[in-house]
Amino acid sequence: MQDLNSKIAAYEEKYHRPSGSVELLAVSKGQPIEKILSVYHTGQRQFGENYLQEALPKIAALPDDIIWHFIGPVQSNKTRKIAEHFHWVQSVDDLAIAKRLNDQRPAHLPPLNICIQVNIDNEPTKSGIAPEMVFDLATACLTLPRLRLRGLMSLPKRQASFHDLNNLFKSLCQQGISLDTLSMGMSDDFEAAIAEGSTMIRIGRALFGPRL
Ligand SMILES: *Cc1c(COP(=O)(O)O)cnc(C)c1O
Repeated sequence: MQDLNSKIAAYEEKYHRPSGSVELLAVSKGQPIEKILSVYHTGQRQFGENYLQEALPKIAALPDDIIWHFIGPVQSNKTRKIAEHFHWVQSVDDLAIAKRLNDQRPAHLPPLNICIQVNIDNEPTKSGIAPEMVFDLATACLTLPRLRLRGLMSLPKRQASFHDLNNLFKSLCQQGISLDTLSMGMSDDFEAAIAEGSTMIRIGRALFGPRL
């Protein structure tokens, strides 16, 4: 944990990013409660999970000041529980799903933070929407009062795609869509992501070790 935070700080400096501009999301899928708790005790508060069934018992068992991010594919029969138990959903790639999350977000909770997941390399097997469709989905999400659009998320396959995603992010901001989160970079490629403007890296194995 210490190591990872110093690496992030070193890359911020190396690539002329403001200090503290890259947040760490600890991806705890496939990790047991004890390991998550030990990372929590180092001060980490943002954790990410991919599967609802796996996440619910963890959310119930772990401290309630954790900020939970859902980062896996969202099936429509899971939206209610996701809207009830998570603070963020980074994997929104479909308006019907966004509408369900909006409608099912409990009234006593603040709006649900969302990112639009982009299939930046147009890979047929990957989740996310095509880059040219992002503007319309973003505009539609802005009309949903129980959602708060925060940014873009992607799993780019090469460094040039990090750059493309950052350009898309900037062009949305220039078109008046205010975003503060560019979620890109994982265990094997977070240096390149930081170099290209990531504001949130999602790290599993490099933090927790191999998954179960
Ligand atoms: C699993 C996962 C991660 C973390 O992957 P590591 O390679 O373990 O760092 C990040 N983002 C998403 C969307 C994931 O599914």
